[in-house]
Amino acid sequence: MRSVFPETMRAKLVAGNWKMHGDLSGNAKLLAEVISGSSGLSRTRAAVCVPYPYLGQAQDVLAGSPVAWGAQNVSQHAKGAYTGEVSAAMLCEFGCTYVIVGHSERRALYGEDSDTVALKYKAVLNTGLRPILCVGETLAQREAGETERVVDAQLSAVTGRFGAQALASGVIAYEPVWAIGTGKTATPEQAQAVHTHIRERVAEVDATVAQSVQILYGGSVKASNAGELFAMPDIDGGLIGGASLIAAEFVAICQAADR
Ligand code: PEP
Repeated sequence: MRSVFPETMRAKLVAGNWKMHGDLSGNAKLLAEVISGSSGLSRTRAAVCVPYPYLGQAQDVLAGSPVAWGAQNVSQHAKGAYTGEVSAAMLCEFGCTYVIVGHSERRALYGEDSDTVALKYKAVLNTGLRPILCVGETLAQREAGETERVVDAQLSAVTGRFGAQALASGVIAYEPVWAIGTGKTATPEQAQAVHTHIRERVAEVDATVAQSVQILYGGSVKASNAGELFAMPDIDGGLIGGASLIAAEFVAICQAADR
């Protein structure tokens, strides 16, 4: 399948989302195996987004390795009386590169709306970290033919407030909600169609950013389906949940992106 956008040299990114999983000893083993499996990657960056308490461990183990690390959420506020929250500046102190914002679990389980997500996105940018903005439709929305409308609204919450340039230093992850943790993956063609749509929407406001912004696919990516998804011209890697907890799977997914 061809992209409507001319071929570019966009690097690939494969980011693991550990969600609320892990413990110190298991993490040490997983991280060591991810480091050794990532050493031969040439155009693919591997990253792990770990629970907050393990950021220090990730920093200790991954510093100087080819594997980047980051967080799964952040406060939209810079500081203050927000019990239980964590600021982007705090994440900076732990050497993070990436911060996931607007994951569908945050939207569905913690009531994060697109305006809040946009503020979180900006809070991350303000500290020089790279937000990974998650967008995607539910099954009911897809079946009602609303995929593009939903994704457009989630994207324009950021671009409407902060301009398309705000996407220049971020990453977009298209994650159909019906594919997350369900074992149901979008077909490569379904995913490519939405990725192209996203790139076209961004191009309407900034063609250069549309060309360069990395758009990841997320939703039940495994070693066995990663190759065909990443072969699509507008899929620049993946956001990986369950499979990022198994070193051999995660490394194989990174290697599939690197081909
Ligand atoms: C995710 O959590 O972002 C995700 C894509 O999960 P999974 O790979 O398990 O579907």
